[in-house]
Amino acid sequence: MPGASTVTVHADRETHPNRAVAQPIYQTVAFSAEDGPAFAASAVEPRGEDFYTRFGNPNHAQVAAVVAELEQTEAAMVTASGMAAITTAVLALVSAGDHVIGQKSTYGGTASVLLNLLPRLGVDTTLVDQRDPEAFAKALTPKTRLILVETPSNPLLQITDLRAVAALARAHGVLTLADNTFATPLNQRPADLGIDVVWHSATKYLNGHTDVCAGVLAGPATVLDRIWETSLLTGATLGPVDAWLLLRGIRTLPLRMPRHNDNGLALAEALTQHPAVNHVHYPGLAAHPQHKLAADQMNGFGGVLSIEFTGGFEMADAFLGQLRYPRRSASLGGVESLAVHPASMWRGMLSDEQLTEAVPPGLVRLAAGTEDTDDLVADALAAADAVLAEHA
Ligand code: PLP
Repeated sequence: MPGASTVTVHADRETHPNRAVAQPIYQTVAFSAEDGPAFAASAVEPRGEDFYTRFGNPNHAQVAAVVAELEQTEAAMVTASGMAAITTAVLALVSAGDHVIGQKSTYGGTASVLLNLLPRLGVDTTLVDQRDPEAFAKALTPKTRLILVETPSNPLLQITDLRAVAALARAHGVLTLADNTFATPLNQRPADLGIDVVWHSATKYLNGHTDVCAGVLAGPATVLDRIWETSLLTGATLGPVDAWLLLRGIRTLPLRMPRHNDNGLALAEALTQHPAVNHVHYPGLAAHPQHKLAADQMNGFGGVLSIEFTGGFEMADAFLGQLRYPRRSASLGGVESLAVHPASMWRGMLSDEQLTEAVPPGLVRLAAGTEDTDDLVADALAAADAVLAEHA
């Protein structure tokens, strides 16, 4: 494989070839056909490029070509959001009576699919502690069809042993889906470790500019064909303009990620020593309980860390109010730093009880952007000093 910076600039060149250097936006819902047989063939071509935009569009195909090459999978497809990717995938891959394993620490929307949506459709689910590979084995039943993993997890930055889970699943004929949003293919390639399907909230690092909501799935063509068929029914289609913006964002992913990695690590190292801070969750810290595993399966640790303050929720909230650069906002993975209190953010998707299980109430998630490292560290330390003084 050429280097990632070459891939993000060139991997779509042979997709819907044309002479424009910057790809055109195919702002069309439908495409005409030369004749009847060509029309009939294009209606059934999985992830096709020129039949009807809900079925596929050249702008989708270009993003997919780059993502498949970056993730080193046979194929990829795009959806209207990360949640569209995971919901369409599970609806395609499981049926009533099946069993799915997920993680206790996982993005709130994924948790809600596992805790609320699937059980309502007659699919049993078990949520396990991802830090314990044995837990996945213990949760397996003869009806298990799918294991959903997310590593590092949002927002606790817990690590899943991808090799171990993939091997276990393969031995039992179970499919694995990994949420690679936090790591990106620059920091981690789950398919290389045996995971079947990789998915992203492309809203985050892949797009990188907090201006597009999108999702991607990458994996074997036969599995994606099944997901694509269901996507025709869920209809969670990414608009061509958003696909075009996403491609433009991905072009610079390899330039942005090293800065996110540097900023995440620098903030984690600085805050972990601060007297206002009880605990910093960041897999790049040598003190992270799973640092060795993270270092083994990742090339960098990303820009997201989470922080527990000595003064609980009040201090966490005051810290968010003191920060100059990171704005109090949902999302992550853009060039601008954002900070949030996950327990407030996920209330639309999980019940109060489910939230209490998922996230410590005082936790702050800090997503480092690509600003200068020294500025972000000085700002975070000044905010921590201020809340310590207030709460003294
Ligand atoms: N996975 C992770 C790890 C996320 O953080 C998010 C959103 O925050 C999602 C999936 C859902 O993605 P989207 O908001 O694009 O639907």
